[in-house]
Amino acid sequence: MLNNKDKVDFILSIDTEEEWDWSGTFPTRDFRLDNIRLIPELQEMCNSLGVKTTYFVDHAVADNADSVALIRPYLEQGQCEIGAHLHPWCNPPIDEEINEKNSHVVNLDIRLVEKKLSELTDALQRAFTVRPTAFRTGRWGIDGPILKLLADYGYTVDSSVYPFYSNEFFTCQGASLNPYWPSFEDSLKVDGQQQRILEMPVTVGFNRANFELFNRLHEKLSSAPYRWFHPIGLAWHMGIFKKIYLCPELSSTEDMKSLIDKSLVRGQRVFHMYLHSSSLLSGATGFMDSKDAFNDIAIRITNIVKYLTSRVEVNFCTITESANRYMAQDGQ
Ligand SMILES: [Zn+2]
Repeated sequence: MLNNKDKVDFILSIDTEEEWDWSGTFPTRDFRLDNIRLIPELQEMCNSLGVKTTYFVDHAVADNADSVALIRPYLEQGQCEIGAHLHPWCNPPIDEEINEKNSHVVNLDIRLVEKKLSELTDALQRAFTVRPTAFRTGRWGIDGPILKLLADYGYTVDSSVYPFYSNEFFTCQGASLNPYWPSFEDSLKVDGQQQRILEMPVTVGFNRANFELFNRLHEKLSSAPYRWFHPIGLAWHMGIFKKIYLCPELSSTEDMKSLIDKSLVRGQRVFHMYLHSSSLLSGATGFMDSKDAFNDIAIRITNIVKYLTSRVEVNFCTITESANRYMAQDGQ
């Protein structure tokens, strides 16, 4: 268990972006941004809970004056931070073919990534008059060259690592669950030298405290030859083990409470909850199966904030504030 001096941080980060059917094609123009109209209500709720927000804003939103006008007052009142969110498919210049592979930033030529990052950073600075210091890729995943590029552009925090996740293009398996200085050679490895950009992973784990053991089991049962009889679903339904995300779109209140309990036992110092702004609008992405998505998400956030504060002393902060606290107290 943590002792008192180890107050934990709670971060709520929101990918703030256009809505589209996530099983369909990537939107490259004529963006639908109706979901951004729900941000004020979300922010007011967070204010009432004492929660500070971090909006990872993508180019489609930064380039839309009406959307910016909805978010900007909260920045001016010191209630949120604006970070950068790179959706390659709708972030100029679009020199690449639009497809699944190229939707992952790690698959793009680094010179194209730089051009897109430059456009995005400038658009955010124009929109919010503050240069962003925190970054997240669309669809997760990061590598050493992109981290170095981010540091060169003045970013001090990355949040593109999605623990216990991998796909055919990148892996986050083996990454630290707490903040760490990522190596420019291998973004999942801790570096003793580079201290220009800090990695702040979102919180993911299992309903059993030995995350590493249950992750190995999860990986094994997800692969052939076990896949055919759905052992993950079976284990889940029998309560044997579950992978749990600190994400109110994906996880129930009870599961997130369990994740918090196990993470506290393991000495977790930063609790990083995340969601997508587009999930606040019922049926907008085809992802959340809910008639009143906003209400469901709001209730889960409220429940988890109350639960965490009942368990331990909590410092509510934006992602860069949390990173700065880490650097000041622990960053050696
Ligand atoms: Zn996104």
